[in-house]
Amino acid sequence: MIDVQGWDFPHTTSVLIIRGREFGIIETGHHRCGEQVLDALSIRQIPLEKLRYVCVTHRHGDHCGGATPIVKKVPNVTVVGHRYAIAGLRDPSRLNEGAKQLFGKFSQDIQPLPPNTSVQEVQDGDRIALGRNVQLEVIGTPGHTSDHVAFFEEHTRTLYTGDALGLLGPKHHTVTPTSFPPSFKHDRYRASIEKLRTYDPTFLVFSHFGAVTGADIPVIFDRALNTLDSWKETVEQAWMLEPSETSVMNAVKQRFLNELEVFPPEARPLFIKVMAQGLSRSLIPTNT
Ligand SMILES: [Zn+2]
Repeated sequence: MIDVQGWDFPHTTSVLIIRGREFGIIETGHHRCGEQVLDALSIRQIPLEKLRYVCVTHRHGDHCGGATPIVKKVPNVTVVGHRYAIAGLRDPSRLNEGAKQLFGKFSQDIQPLPPNTSVQEVQDGDRIALGRNVQLEVIGTPGHTSDHVAFFEEHTRTLYTGDALGLLGPKHHTVTPTSFPPSFKHDRYRASIEKLRTYDPTFLVFSHFGAVTGADIPVIFDRALNTLDSWKETVEQAWMLEPSETSVMNAVKQRFLNELEVFPPEARPLFIKVMAQGLSRSLIPTNT
């Protein structure tokens, strides 16, 4: 696992290198992180021609944006993702516009993939073989977005969760729901967490940020579900007191801001308000 310093800040975005006969990476970070992924491979003396797959969990720029600069340096690599993620990488204009509206200066554009890029569209249950019995199972995990997939490496029982399980605080292991609008769907997100739990992994990796092992894993799954329930309760109570999106956003920020440990500190107040908005829009359908 390497730290590609998403938002130019440490302990924010994790990229995983998978070694079989060939190499794969899961996730790329932002556009700017692509260069860091290539540096990390070179430091580990992994020849670029051995990099066979770049797997992305979903269409958001902080997960797939680095694919384009990597493809430009490694032309034979295949980009793997759900068909919506691949479509977003081919024509990112709508995604970039949406990210800019939500996150302003904290967004970073995805550049389109070169037209001749090799791609593989995957769905739940597909497998990506890297040789030497190393293979990745694709796990459909919608909820954060409709195109979200997680990846399970069966040999080491490593589960790369992307944004499906939440944001892991690197210091205190808090878990925060990744409930960003407009695509977040509460019930599907919760069901995806329950589904991931059945894999009983040995290593559990978060895109934001880091990994947990052993006896910590069931604790982290419980925490992901419990925090989601507390956020939901806070949203519903705030809405009952004053049915406005502003009241909901302020209530969630007030109660949970100090639990958000990833992202640069100056971005956290905005990000938590946007996540509260996504959760409330999913829970309160009239609130759009
Ligand atoms: Zn995301």
